[in-house]
Amino acid sequence: MEIADRCVVSIHYTLTNEGGEILDSSQGSDALAYLHGSGNIIPGLESALVGKQAGDKLQVRVEPAQGYGERNEQLIQQVPRRAFQGINDVKEGMRFQTQGPNGPTSVMVTRVAGDMVTVDGNHPLAGQTLNFDVEIAEVREASEEELQHGHVHGPGGHHH
Ligand code: ZN
Repeated sequence: MEIADRCVVSIHYTLTNEGGEILDSSQGSDALAYLHGSGNIIPGLESALVGKQAGDKLQVRVEPAQGYGERNEQLIQQVPRRAFQGINDVKEGMRFQTQGPNGPTSVMVTRVAGDMVTVDGNHPLAGQTLNFDVEIAEVREASEEELQHGHVHGPGGHHH
């Protein structure tokens, strides 16, 4: 069957950035299963898969606007070290959950200088053009329960 809304699609993929560096890959693990038409994956990849079938291979180039968005400099903030109560050793690369205006969000420490800590709330892939190498493993109809939940159950999906 062809990929359309209300399908469960399983894909193997390798994601590289513009420099050819591999950022993520499903090789060696389960195929990624997602519910098509529910925004489970980034828009640029989802729209490129419409009408494809199991066994198809394709390369998809996704600009930031159709991926994880542009980088927003306002999401980079300086906070005093004492804001990190209970954490003795704040280091570059650490990730923290914080409460943002739109719910919980993840920030990464990008710099520690004296008593000030710089944190960046951008998605790590924001501002990047992404290249996906995709092979479609399986396409099936979603169950009623999956449609209600808005995500896939079983291998490569949610277990609950
Ligand atoms: Zn569910």
